[in-house]
Amino acid sequence: MNILGIETSCDETGVAVYHTTRGLRSHQLYTQAATHAEYGGVVPELASRDHVRKLPWLIDAALDEAGIVAADLDGVAYTRGPGLVGALLVGISTARGLAARLGIPALGVHHLEGHLLAPMLSDNPPPFPFVALLVSGGHSQFIEVLGVGQYRLLGGTIDDATGEAFDKVAKLLDLPYPGGPHLAKLAERGDPLRFKMTRPMVDRPGLDLSFSGLKTQALVQAKKLAVDGRVGDQDAADLAAAFEHTVAETLFIKCKRALAETGLTRLVMAGGVAANLRLRARLAQLDAELFYPPLAYCTDNGAMIAYAGAQRIHAGQADEGYPGPRPRWPLQELSHV
Ligand code: ATP
Ligand code: MG
Ligand code: FE
Repeated sequence: MNILGIETSCDETGVAVYHTTRGLRSHQLYTQAATHAEYGGVVPELASRDHVRKLPWLIDAALDEAGIVAADLDGVAYTRGPGLVGALLVGISTARGLAARLGIPALGVHHLEGHLLAPMLSDNPPPFPFVALLVSGGHSQFIEVLGVGQYRLLGGTIDDATGEAFDKVAKLLDLPYPGGPHLAKLAERGDPLRFKMTRPMVDRPGLDLSFSGLKTQALVQAKKLAVDGRVGDQDAADLAAAFEHTVAETLFIKCKRALAETGLTRLVMAGGVAANLRLRARLAQLDAELFYPPLAYCTDNGAMIAYAGAQRIHAGQADEGYPGPRPRWPLQELSHV
């Protein structure tokens, strides 16, 4: 089965073709980062318009790259939520129009299920069951994953998401949007131990996370260091390194706890922050098998939506009627496959 995947939940337009036995056939991505950079964050209306402009071209390019034509498709999967409602609607209507024209099923996919299953696209895919640490721009959660659609939430952030905290600390160090990767780059030449930061919530039981206080610690330190409102180069690098180090240490402790609580031995990290190499290196020291997506499929992309959709469409699932977007959508509501 050839399944087309369409991702338009935020500021990345992603399209891919996944074949149920031959694997990923193509992957096209357009990032709107430059559009939103001057505003320092995603502007929803601009995001929707950019998706409208780029999506048809990306679909053509993804089909070309896969060496197929639209008539060769067996299903269209699209991101139904969570995300920006206007941005989601672009993907939904395009996917549904295409599926109706071709007489094939359309299926709305949960964006976080896409992130969660993205490690399946790697050369070393994780067998079920596993603990997933989902760390992205909008979410930070521990999930027990028993199979496709079998998700149990173990804990999550009570305030900022991990990626969001990375982006906010980057912004306060005057780094370009989106800040996470820039902060990681800056941290490479910083001393992670110069500034001591408190690891949030590690002395409390459970698997909840919090990043807002850590962000404030960085803010307070940055204010102390600033001369004429600007933090010097080496000071900024040291602060970035301290922040990244503290996030990695905090997540290390919580991952260890999640593995102990569930009795599982496999840990999957997914979502944009799973691209962070210092975090990967730290979690590799856990007494567990560690899995993550290929770097290109950590942040938003069409391949993960094509993969997740393919699992479900292959099992006979399809949209019933015309379900609307789900800007908020608890992962636990998904059906089993
Ligand atoms: P969600 O999936 O929760 O709806 P999103 O789609 O915006 O949110 P992703 O695309 O999964 O999030 O990830 C983007 C986030 O990942 C951003 O916050 C970005 O800064 C962060 N990020 C990307 N690369 C890195 C990195 N190397 N180190 C730290 N953070 C990173
Ligand atoms: Mg993005
Ligand atoms: Fe995402």
